[in-house]
This record gives sequence, C-alpha cells and structure tokens, in this order.
Amino acid sequence: MKSLRDFLAQRKREHLYRQRRIAAGAQRPVMEIDGRRVVNFCSNDYLGLAADPRLTEAFRRAADECGLGSGASHLISGHHRWHHALEERLAEFTGRERALVFSTGYMANLGVIQALVGPGDAVFADRLSHASLLDGAMLSRARLTRYPHGDAEALARRLDASRAARRLVVTDGVFSMDGDVAPLSGLVQAAERHGAWLMVDDAHGIGVLGQQGGGSLQRAGLGQDEVPVLVGTFGKALGTAGAFVAGSAELIDYLVQTARPYIYTTAMPAALAAATLASLDVVAAEPERRSYLHSLVRRFRVLARELPAPLLASETPIQGLVLGSAERALAVSRRLFGLGFLVSAIRPPTVPAGSARLRITLSAAHSRSQVDDLLDALHTALAKTG
Ligand SMILES: *Cc1c(COP(=O)(O)O)cnc(C)c1O
Repeated sequence: MKSLRDFLAQRKREHLYRQRRIAAGAQRPVMEIDGRRVVNFCSNDYLGLAADPRLTEAFRRAADECGLGSGASHLISGHHRWHHALEERLAEFTGRERALVFSTGYMANLGVIQALVGPGDAVFADRLSHASLLDGAMLSRARLTRYPHGDAEALARRLDASRAARRLVVTDGVFSMDGDVAPLSGLVQAAERHGAWLMVDDAHGIGVLGQQGGGSLQRAGLGQDEVPVLVGTFGKALGTAGAFVAGSAELIDYLVQTARPYIYTTAMPAALAAATLASLDVVAAEPERRSYLHSLVRRFRVLARELPAPLLASETPIQGLVLGSAERALAVSRRLFGLGFLVSAIRPPTVPAGSARLRITLSAAHSRSQVDDLLDALHTALAKTG
C-alpha cells in the first residue's frame, strides 16, 4: 500500500504526524504519561471529577446491581432505569422538557443533525465548529454553509440568501480549540428572524459556565424556546462518558424514532449513567469547584500577559497560546514535557494552517502553584525555541 506509506511519510515531514502518549493510573493533575510523572494541562476534566471516589463508588454499586453490559440497544432491551433516571435529571438540570442519552457526543451530533435535516435542507455552521457537527452535516446530505467565526450578522446574511426548506444553525457553545463563547443571543435573533432551528453543542460549557453549571445557555438565560436543541457531553466537566440531547418532548420523541446513531448501537453501560447522576449531585452540591476554577483562569491570564506569544481571548478553562507553525508548537510542547508538563500542540487540520498553538486547559483539581510552575516552564520553553 504505497499510498498509505507516502501519506505517513509526508505527515512526518510536515510535523503533522500524530502519536498517542500512554497514560497510566487515574486522571489527575499529576499522572504518569509515557512512563514519566508530569502535570497534565490538556485534560478536559475541568471540575476534577474524572477520578472522584464518589463517582467510581456509584459506578461500582450500579455495576454490582446490574452488571456491566447493557445487552442491547435502547429500543430493544438495553434502556435501563438508570438511563431513564439520568434523562429525567438532565431535563431538570438544563431546564428543558426532556433529554435523551447517547453513547458519545460525536454520535449525538451525528444523530441529531441527520434526523433533523436531509437533502434539500441547509445547515449553517460556525467556521470553527467541532468536527462532529460538520460530519453530522455531511452525513445528513443537507447543504452545508460555514459562516465566519462568531459572526451572527454574517450568519443572518447567509440565512437570508437561502431558499432551503428546513434550516438548521449549529455552533459550539464554548469553542473547543479557542475557548471563546459563541455570540448566543445574536445567533438566537438571526435564527428566529429566518425561521431556522438553532442547535448548540455545549460540550465545554456544561458544568463550567452558568450559576448551577448548566452551561453557556444557562449563563445567557436562553431556554428551550430560544435554543430548541442543546447537546451536552459527560466526558468533560462531568468526568464520566457519554452525551445527551435536551429539548422539547416532541424533539426527543422524534429522535427516538429517527436518530440512527441512537437506534443502531448498544446502550451505554447503565452503571455509567448511575455514575453520571452522582456527578450531577457533586456539581449541584459543590459550586465552589466552579468558582475556584474560574479564579485559576483569571490567575493564569494575568500571569500569561508576560509571555512572548499571544494568548487567545477566552474566559473559559480553555486557553490557547498561538505559536504559528506546527513545528514550533510541537517543539515547545516537547520542551514542556521535558520540564514535567503535558500540554498538547494543536496543529492543522484541527486548527487553520499558521495558527498552531498550545491548548492549555485548567481544572479545579490544579493547585495555584501548579499553574505558577507551568508559567515558569512556558517562559523557559519559549525562550529556548525562539
Ligand atoms: C468532545 C466534543 C464532542 C464529542 O464528545 P464525545 O462525548 O467525546 O464524543 C462534541 N463536541 C464538542 C464541541 C466537543 O468538544
């Protein structure tokens, strides 16, 4: 297979070759990666719940009760009372009529988009939308239009020019690579004015933003009438795995009938739903996790002003330090690893060419001194790579 070999060789030449590091032990700020103890600054475990003993205990107890495998899809015999209880809890948590649990966020996005639109319809996606939203749009065979990042007026012009029967606007709530928040009220206005549906994927906002951790929509005070489709995931701030869609009872009923990535897959283990319920309990009971996390974000941003590289504007735990070339981003990331810090280099095609960066993520599990030490290491690593 010469073409595969050529592809791999070219990726290496262009500093775009991807390799997996091997982690051992629990997901914590200090962990063993590739046999080295490092401080992890690239996990999405924003609230420090991934290794929380209350979640693992809930998982263990539910697994003792109902085993591990769910045995079948939700529509056959896999829909357990733990899944159902989680859905009811999520509806309450998001202030929506109903919620539907999916195995992953990737599948939720594929499922919702291809259920809501098809050939002859149109999807409008922010240029920096997560890959799963774009893949969902392509799978749906609706016409995909990408509007400039965070630009609600540009979206309105594109909606105006569209003659499609059904129109669906999709955006991240918090953008996964830049950490900025979508201009939600502008998007709501544009969608409402043009009779389009708005779908917000809040994978990085759930648990992190809003008074009760309800996400970017809770923070903006936007309910089901303004944003009819909300997608959230469990694998980030909630510290487990899986995802949900929340909206009207009619929407959820429709997805149960039509969303193929919901119908044609084995239900997630019920014990995982039980662990996610335990996570929502912690999110409700310990708002100080969120306020401490935001204090770390502010501390990091003040200290990072002294760095010789631009920091993207972001008030979320996702902080991007733009370094330009993939080669430079990789070199700085490797130096940081040598200094005991794991920070991933994000390169094209994940981000546009010339905007390779370090994506630093903060967690409520980090200490202030770990953040301060990271800044020292960044100074050292950037000085050595020019
Ligand atoms: C992580 C992520 C997803 C995918 O969620 P998984 O549950 O990990 O599959 C979807 N959308 C966004 C914006 C994400 O960051």
